[in-house]
Amino acid sequence: MWTSSSPPRCNATSGPAINDRLGHPAGDQLLTVVAERLREAAGEALVARLGGDEFALVLPSATAADYIQRVVATMAPPVTVAGELLHVQVSIGLATADSDMVDPAELVRRADVAMYQAKHTGRNRWVTYTPAMDADATERARIERAIRQGLHHNRLHLLYQPVVALPEGRLTGVEALVRLHDADGTVIGPDRFIPVAEATGLIIPLGRWVLQTACRQAADWRRRLGAEAPARININVSARQLDDPNLLTDVAQALADTGLPAESLIVEITETAALSSDAAATTLYRLRDMGVGIALDDFGTGYSSLSLLMTCPVDVLKVDKSFVDDIDHRPDRAAVVKFLGHSATDLGVRLVAEGVETLTQATLLHQMGYQHAQGYHFAKPLPAEQIENFIQRATSPPVMAA
Ligand code: C2E
Ligand code: CA
Ligand code: CA
Repeated sequence: MWTSSSPPRCNATSGPAINDRLGHPAGDQLLTVVAERLREAAGEALVARLGGDEFALVLPSATAADYIQRVVATMAPPVTVAGELLHVQVSIGLATADSDMVDPAELVRRADVAMYQAKHTGRNRWVTYTPAMDADATERARIERAIRQGLHHNRLHLLYQPVVALPEGRLTGVEALVRLHDADGTVIGPDRFIPVAEATGLIIPLGRWVLQTACRQAADWRRRLGAEAPARININVSARQLDDPNLLTDVAQALADTGLPAESLIVEITETAALSSDAAATTLYRLRDMGVGIALDDFGTGYSSLSLLMTCPVDVLKVDKSFVDDIDHRPDRAAVVKFLGHSATDLGVRLVAEGVETLTQATLLHQMGYQHAQGYHFAKPLPAEQIENFIQRATSPPVMAA
């Protein structure tokens, strides 16, 4: 059966952590609906649940593409579970058995590797296995180990990048950016380990550690530096964390433990995270009710940027570096940056330009109405102790011409 067939491995999910949020009976109910839909789409082909939200379909390879299109189509209608309308997304990995490879376990492994890639290419995608994907899978396993060990052995640390007021470069806040040390001491950057932490669920303990550490540090600065302390600390929060029913309690606990006022904490989320589920928006409103600020990160890179301002409580827009990069040579992109600069007050948001690397950019942004910026021109992400030096420096000579 396996030798003449392609098992696509499907992962069907409607926003992570359904069980956590709506309870196990709701999760089971959703799985039942998904299983029925898969059976319907698969016709005569074999459907099996592999565990969690993962299913395998064993199909004749010649017609696999037709089956897959049917699977994607059949998942499109939303499912009502526990009174909530859920949109099911499928990520499909496809592996084909041929004369060289007849081991069923290997076939499923390959489909699994391809499914991981599908998950990271976007919603409702399918990806066919290639041997090159194995190297990625090995690297991910290594990073997953490093994250587990990092959490266990305290090998995580935070850097803080100044957010400054234009034009003078005075520090107004910091963004906490996490780093992970490998067992051999090498630093792994967040671009490499955050996606793995998100895919494995390790982002939950990791994010909690970031929250607690950042709040503790901000409270410490306030105690020691008084009015000179960064007025706000920003932390990055992933979609998966917004779906975690414990997030609000974790935030309340971190604020209570450290004595940091809620107004000093800003949660940075991307558009994709804000749109990931109905629950995400509710969580954002609850955070806002607590007094915590909400920043929309990488603004301008998503699909629905401006309309999101109507549905989400947003205090800060962080205009993405890609726009800032272009302001002195792409008039169309500069026009967008300028439009935002002049609309911020009407939109009721504070604007921060990200990734400012040159004096020219800083000066142009200021002329376009920007009052806050962040980027290597002012400072790279710094260890906590160097933030105090930055405050000293920034209060003396101006960083840019007015
Ligand atoms: P981000 O939130 O957009 O953070 C800004 C990134 O741009 C940081 O990279 C920062 O070092 C870099 N950056 C700042 N100014 C400049 C500049 O002028 N030029 C250039 N080339 N880069 C600049 P980093 O620290 O590597 O973080 C990468 C991403 O990883 C972050 O992007 C964020 O999405 C994620 N991340 C970092 N820390 C956390 C965390 O604690 N939790 C979560 N969920 N994600 C995090
Ligand atoms: Ca950010
Ligand atoms: Ca950003």
